[in-house]
Amino acid sequence: MRIFTATLGTETNTFAPLPTNLESFRDLVCVSGDDIISGRCEPSAAGQALLSVRQDRPIEIIHGLSASAQPGGVTTRAAYEHLRGQLLDDLAAAGKVDGVLLNLHGAMIADGYLDCEGDILRRVRARTGPDIPVCVVLDPHCHLSEEMLQYADAISCYKEYPHTDVEECLIQMADLLVRIVDGRHKPVQSVFDCRMISILHTREEPVRSIIDRIRTLEQTEADILSISIVHGFPWGDSPDMGTRVLVITDAAPEKGARIAREIGLDLFTHRDSSGRKLLTLEEATREALRASERPLVIADSSDNPGGGAPSDSMRLIRSLMEKGVTNAAAAFIWDPGAVAIAHRAGEGARLPIRIGGKTSVLCGPPLDLGLTVKRVMENLSEVFAGLTWNTGPAAVVEGGGFELVLTTNRIQCFTPEAFRQAGIRPEDKSILVVKSSQHFRSAFEPLAGRILYAEPPGVLDTRLDTLPFRHVQRPRWPFDPDPFGSAGGQP
Ligand SMILES: [Zn+2]
Repeated sequence: MRIFTATLGTETNTFAPLPTNLESFRDLVCVSGDDIISGRCEPSAAGQALLSVRQDRPIEIIHGLSASAQPGGVTTRAAYEHLRGQLLDDLAAAGKVDGVLLNLHGAMIADGYLDCEGDILRRVRARTGPDIPVCVVLDPHCHLSEEMLQYADAISCYKEYPHTDVEECLIQMADLLVRIVDGRHKPVQSVFDCRMISILHTREEPVRSIIDRIRTLEQTEADILSISIVHGFPWGDSPDMGTRVLVITDAAPEKGARIAREIGLDLFTHRDSSGRKLLTLEEATREALRASERPLVIADSSDNPGGGAPSDSMRLIRSLMEKGVTNAAAAFIWDPGAVAIAHRAGEGARLPIRIGGKTSVLCGPPLDLGLTVKRVMENLSEVFAGLTWNTGPAAVVEGGGFELVLTTNRIQCFTPEAFRQAGIRPEDKSILVVKSSQHFRSAFEPLAGRILYAEPPGVLDTRLDTLPFRHVQRPRWPFDPDPFGSAGGQP
């Protein structure tokens, strides 16, 4: 059995100011299959998943392109077409294959392409013909389109947010693909559109119970091959943006449709309570001054680079400084210019530096402050979701009660390692500000006295009516309070 695998993806925030280009992919991961075969680099997570299901089966794995970029603004046409071309060339060079496993994030929007993954799958299908199984793994923060469903045999999303089950999901899909190639299953995909836009937190009720129920159904019902909740990515202005439930059965479309509808309506019923209450800038500042639990971890969620934001908003940090907080630290603030100045001045130097606030009016003005350069470093790195994320040249500057970790690359703060590598002991701090919406949580929870979620105005604002959508299909809650009623349906 010969299986071709490839990875291509990013999460496009159509409201973010920084375009995603080929450099953005090279900054994170961009390797061709040749590098993997020659041993110059590790196989991608999808390739690893196939390696792990291969143990007792004779499978030849052909590793194609592996390219991922940090979430950002719209992908340039040149970058998208180049990477798509590389993936298709790798597939053509693989010759005759028995199956295809693709790891696509599912929320890439490129200049001229509102549905990159639908476009990729249509072209992959044109090469493989109708009979070769094509299986796909997506991040739940994706846009599931008709075209994707039409050209893929089986699609599934990670279940957990934070995404702690990426590897598990890839292995499950690799295993399913092999069984489909063996002729043991005839997958049928059934979808229910919840007609809503939401942020689903799978560690919290009511979503936690729904995820647990899905896992039980997958384990106990023989004809259910996979169930996914497509959360959707609210800051991607795609016609397909929104929450859906996708059930794959073994040739049982009616059962699949029934289960997808049941779960989808359950999510819709809880639409008001499935989101998290985020604190306004003023509320977060007030709460930070009042709270006694230490360290207090505050997520600066509307400036999370993981959702495409610049990570250079100083709104929250400035507000806390103005109230006189002390013994605080923040990571990571994207400011290559300020890093260069700090490196030039050297450790111990004291000088005025302008920090952040350089890319979008949504993020507010920069912070001008007299600062001490505490540390300069060539790189810091974090491992998260199977990838190594590098900051590039970085610096720690101190002033106004804060130690600020500045970076050259735009990187989400995933773990306390972000602070430790910068020479800051996070457990000794009173306040830690992290540029992250949710992924920080698993690693910070054990040391946090308490966690707050703040939402200063920014690129990832959850008050969606502040953003200029053009393409998203209607009716869709919360834009339309009664999306089923107005369409003549009933929830
Ligand atoms: Zn995600």
